[in-house]
Amino acid sequence: MAVSVVPTRAKIVIIGGGVGGTSVAYHLAELGEKEVILLDRNELTSGSTFHSAGLVGQLRADPTLTLMNMHSVDLYRKLQATDTPPSWRECGSIKLASTPERMQEIRRQIGWAKTFGLDLHEISPQEAQNLFPLIDLDGVVGACYMASDGQVDPSQLAMALAAGARRQGVQIFTHTRVLEIKTTNNRVSSVVTDKGEIECEIIVNCGGMYAPEIARMVNVRVPIVPMSHQYLITENFMPVDAPFLPSLRDPDNLIYFRQEVSGLLMGGYERNSKAWSADYNSIDNIPANFNNSLLAEDWDRFIDIAEASQKRVPKMSEVGIKSFINGPEGFTPDNEFCLGETSVGGFFVAAGFCAHGIAGAGGIGKVVAEWVVAGEPTMDLWHMDIKRFGASYESPDFTLQRITENYEEYYDIHYPGEERKSARPKITSPVYEWHKANGAVFGEKASWERVNFYSTNIGNDALRPKDWLGNHWSNAVQIEHYATRNNAGLFDESSFAKARVKGARAAEFLNYVCANNVVKGVGKTTYTQALNSKAGIESDYTVTQTEDNEFFIVTGTAFAIHDFGWLEKIKREHSFDDVEITNITRDLACFAIMGPKSRIILQSLTESDLSHTAFPFMNSKKLTIAGITVRATRVTYVGELGWELYAPPENALALWLAIMEAGKSHGIKPCGYRSIESLRLEKGYRAWGGEINTETNPFEAGLGFAISLKKENFHGKAAAIAAQTQLKRKLVAIIFDDITRVPFGSEPIRIGSTIIGRIKSGGQGYTIKKAIAYAYLPIENSEVGTHVEVEFFGTWHQGVICAEPLFDPSNERVRS
Ligand SMILES: Cc1cc2nc3c(=O)[nH]c(=O)nc-3n(C[C@H](O)[C@H](O)[C@H](O)COP(=O)(O)OP(=O)(O)OC[C@H]3O[C@@H](n4cnc5c(N)ncnc54)[C@H](O)[C@@H]3O)c2cc1C
Repeated sequence: MAVSVVPTRAKIVIIGGGVGGTSVAYHLAELGEKEVILLDRNELTSGSTFHSAGLVGQLRADPTLTLMNMHSVDLYRKLQATDTPPSWRECGSIKLASTPERMQEIRRQIGWAKTFGLDLHEISPQEAQNLFPLIDLDGVVGACYMASDGQVDPSQLAMALAAGARRQGVQIFTHTRVLEIKTTNNRVSSVVTDKGEIECEIIVNCGGMYAPEIARMVNVRVPIVPMSHQYLITENFMPVDAPFLPSLRDPDNLIYFRQEVSGLLMGGYERNSKAWSADYNSIDNIPANFNNSLLAEDWDRFIDIAEASQKRVPKMSEVGIKSFINGPEGFTPDNEFCLGETSVGGFFVAAGFCAHGIAGAGGIGKVVAEWVVAGEPTMDLWHMDIKRFGASYESPDFTLQRITENYEEYYDIHYPGEERKSARPKITSPVYEWHKANGAVFGEKASWERVNFYSTNIGNDALRPKDWLGNHWSNAVQIEHYATRNNAGLFDESSFAKARVKGARAAEFLNYVCANNVVKGVGKTTYTQALNSKAGIESDYTVTQTEDNEFFIVTGTAFAIHDFGWLEKIKREHSFDDVEITNITRDLACFAIMGPKSRIILQSLTESDLSHTAFPFMNSKKLTIAGITVRATRVTYVGELGWELYAPPENALALWLAIMEAGKSHGIKPCGYRSIESLRLEKGYRAWGGEINTETNPFEAGLGFAISLKKENFHGKAAAIAAQTQLKRKLVAIIFDDITRVPFGSEPIRIGSTIIGRIKSGGQGYTIKKAIAYAYLPIENSEVGTHVEVEFFGTWHQGVICAEPLFDPSNERVRS
């Protein structure tokens, strides 16, 4: 029998000793966790960490990620002052714009940076050259500079974090391989290693590119693929006493540089990427002894990067190469991290750092440690949450296609409204062929092919947004918007995530999970939030009571795993064992007919009385429409009279055709998701992941009406009461007179010279003929009529806070 050299029990076991695992360990220790063990199958840093390039940039498109990277920099500064310094060097960074479009992006980013107090500012090409004298300015349009960015030695960083963790009691065992993970009642109970078994309550899988193989031990799919990433280091050629260079990114040429001793390190994101140990037919299969190892040099794939580097830094063609690194790194399908608790209780993941794991490590460690301790995220981590990945990512082909696309476009400008091109269509509506034949332009959400708009709805270009915000804009959207406001629009919303919740205690369970009272009798529909223990909005959905002990839940397309996972978690943690939660998304198509003429159109297809008295708002019934049995629910997300109709997929086409035919003489139009966005922004309907998330509470979001504080108890009630009485900020609607100058998200808001917030979401309101934005502002700045300025593309624009909703404030249309 093997002798056990690891403890037999710990509260938390971290698997993996790269920057991810050591940072999680460090932060758990900081939070006072005493029983923490970190295991690595080899030495610390022997995965991807040891061969990293070590650049640390802070500003990202996602505000949460920016805040995380800012924490990293603070931490690395602090560690530098300890006796295990990670060689943090705050050398600053330059980003070059080699195209006018990139310069526009940079100006937008400079605006975002202001909302974080980051010192990013525009510099001229000449100033860029003064700071980095080796560059040739040919084609450089402009640049920006951030003094607080830097570089770090990745291995020393992991060692510094490990030392900090050890000092606070974390035990680290290297050369200890996890072989098996045991679970009881779908919760982790122990890890089996080659040195013995450790009973535990929580496991954090910090396995980097090995994370999928570790997760397979509990049947969890982590869609990470090891991708080859290459850089070279030149011979030393600069005078040793020359000023240390800032790091340099030239994304239009796909390259980055930093100083390495008195030479340069140069790498890039090739257009011809290469996965390692995985392909389109098989998942990752990393050799059991692959540690402290690199891949073979692949010069053929690096040649374009090398040539681009020589153009931008001509010295690159003169100096010798000291080393060439080809290292594998775990990439995810959207270039964001994979964090959080999985569908197995207590099994967390923190992996897939997509070549920005050194910049992110400090922040990752912090948010994951907080998540583990609190049992829920402490920031809005949706964009990094493992629950954003659906069942499609079980497929190696789908996963790799997405990862390849994203890797190769890593440095591209991602314009608003851009759609992914790879692996489509994946899941289609039963009416997909009709849409296609009728001019649909599709978008993709959670691998569902959905109609964005129909090219056959032809408008004009007068309202096209200025700058590159208009790149993916279509004039069809306003036509669909007006059709819905004036007559009727028919929307295919079959991708909505749907669940059935059933059982003797289903009503009790849902009234505990949901902040609103959702048990109002059979046929009643309720809009509600599910709150976490800090009253942050974990989910936002409608619940229909279909039987005494049965409920039907509808939520956004992308949220099935997340929202139904939250239900499962509460069920597990509060012993509602007999409640059955079933994802029935694919069992029902959903069409929404919305607009003032929707009643007259639908009434012509059914014997049932659809009058307001017979079928009031927020009610749901089974009806026969055009001979097809449907569940009709009188709700709206666009601010109009209307119904959502749920029907089995086999009857969907007949239903769609019947409604289109009946609506012809009433001006009905098929409509897509882009018009929903414009319509709901006018009406002020919140979108989870847009204006609301786990970090915002219902009262500041203007959703207090959907909270029933009268209910005896619900999850997060104590915090909700506190939130109501201690309101510090408020979501407000800001409008701009010029509808073609559109804020899109993250832009800074100021009064005078003081920055008071950042835009959360924005778009065009075609009925009110204004550009619209939503933002959380301090209560003292949130009064209706307050004038603010918002910066887009480097210019400040006047906006004014308006009373909500901007359209139909008395709700006459919805309740007509
Ligand atoms: C060439 C290259 C350049 C890069 N440049 C940058 C950069 O400039 N800036 C930046 O921010 N990021 C960069 N990165 C990314 C960064 O290096 C990674 O994101 C980061 O190192 C990943 O750390 P990790 O802890 O997730 O994984 P790893 O460092 O791979 O650690 C995972 C650990 O898990 C252990 N493990 C696996 N299976 C088991 C098991 N069964 N039992 C026990 N232990 C196990 C492994 O031994 C390994 O040590 C670069 C990456 C590469 C490849």
